Amino acid sequence: MLGQAPDSLAITTRELAARLRFFSSDLFEGRYPGTRGEALTTGYLVSELQSFGLRPGAASTANGTAGWLQPVQLLVQRPDSGSPVEARLTGRISGQLAPGKEVTFANTGRSPNVSTAGELVFVGYGIDAPMYRWNDFAGINLRGKIAIMIFGEPTVEGDTLRFNGVRASRFSWLTDKVAEMDRRGAVGVLLIRPDGSFQSPFRVSRYLASDVRDDGIRFFGGLTDSALARLLPPKSGSLEKLLKAADRPGFRSLPLGVNLAVRFRTEPTLVTSHNVIGTVPGTDSSLASQHVVLSAHWDAYGIGKPVKGDSIYNGALDDGSGVTAMLALARVFAAHPQRRSLTFLFTTAEEWGLLGAHAFVCAGPVPMERVAANLNLDDGLELLGPKRDAAPLGVELSTLGQTIQQVAVKSGLRVSPDPYPAEGYFLRADNYPFARAGVPALYMALGTDAVGSSRQYVDAKVKEYLERDYHQPSDEYETVALNLEGSRQYAEFVRGVTTTVANEERAPSWLPGGEFERPRKQVATTRCAR
Ligand SMILES: [Zn+2]
Repeated sequence: MLGQAPDSLAITTRELAARLRFFSSDLFEGRYPGTRGEALTTGYLVSELQSFGLRPGAASTANGTAGWLQPVQLLVQRPDSGSPVEARLTGRISGQLAPGKEVTFANTGRSPNVSTAGELVFVGYGIDAPMYRWNDFAGINLRGKIAIMIFGEPTVEGDTLRFNGVRASRFSWLTDKVAEMDRRGAVGVLLIRPDGSFQSPFRVSRYLASDVRDDGIRFFGGLTDSALARLLPPKSGSLEKLLKAADRPGFRSLPLGVNLAVRFRTEPTLVTSHNVIGTVPGTDSSLASQHVVLSAHWDAYGIGKPVKGDSIYNGALDDGSGVTAMLALARVFAAHPQRRSLTFLFTTAEEWGLLGAHAFVCAGPVPMERVAANLNLDDGLELLGPKRDAAPLGVELSTLGQTIQQVAVKSGLRVSPDPYPAEGYFLRADNYPFARAGVPALYMALGTDAVGSSRQYVDAKVKEYLERDYHQPSDEYETVALNLEGSRQYAEFVRGVTTTVANEERAPSWLPGGEFERPRKQVATTRCAR
């Protein structure tokens, strides 16, 4: 009998290149949830996990066989172009807001018809954050009202003390801000951006079906700041003054004395998509019930508007690279189990608002109190080549920061701080639903100190990617996979961190006083709260 080849547990650039080239090829049709591209993608992932010897990680199916797929029901709201949109003002001012020009709406309920009205209240950033002694809702009742809020969180230039200084805090996260106003009884939320550009609310017109109710907020939308300026009461001063006041402590929400009646129609459709889940059971009977969850999203942007004759949005870097690294790690760990169980979670609908990860946290096969940590693989800049530093996001929040430090030293890497702190990337990836449910989590990433090239080169490449390829048909293997030695280094680094977390006696925990701190025993009861 032949023994195993001695290097069967090595992760090679050849393996990563082969997988990434295939997984991001046009054959997968841009990996869009609910399409044939999904069936091909999930079929491929399951077959790989099976071949490595993982166990199916999703809940048992009705006929008693264990499954690899967690169904995720998604509600998609398409605009009904045939029906008119109404935004009528009454009270101190009467007239209309111009739909599509001054105001946009997305339906947040199940019913195709939205018809509601309420007084407009400017709530500043719309944040209640006791730990930062900040409450935009002090003295205001939002029941039956329509809130107008600013995107993001208060910032005063040069102030490094407010919230996290430049680093975006969890209180800036849009979904949570809307949920807070839902709890306070608002019937609608309109977003403004101080620079005058409002984002079309299209991206938030997709929801996890189980989250959607018809008795809460009825719509979410955007309002231009010039429209807000003309709605302000005469004595409240200029919009500019009001926006400045919203950045400072002591800001008070401002009822505008104007009612807005909203009426529009959409076409809601249900899409069934799937998370793919495989598990490597732990070897230590006292620790095996706990899981380290590694995650990467399989979804991309599908087939869409052609750019330079190419209509397939391949998602090679985002997040084919993370999936590729995860597959290599699944192969290695299946052959080499650890004390804790390892769960490999390939999420759907990350690009729709972290919906697959949220479904796993909320209703997945592993209760959150048994998840020791989440390591999320969604970065891709390692495709530029090897680095001298690692820069995982979230290291300042939990004891995982110490683990990162240890593993980095062993791997000959320095640990760098978040190179783009104002972007709030920790909040914008699948690690976030885990963190907000109380599970210590990291956004795994290498840094920007590249071997053999300057920081300027890296910054220029990052800029080029974000402007040219990000969420575009040109995010494909030939464009982005420049030097997979960096991907190999990244996979090895994640492997080191996973091994450490999976074997340490103590599970990771949040650092006291941090934004996500929550005693472990509370995790179970709060995991689904939005
Ligand atoms: Zn991504």
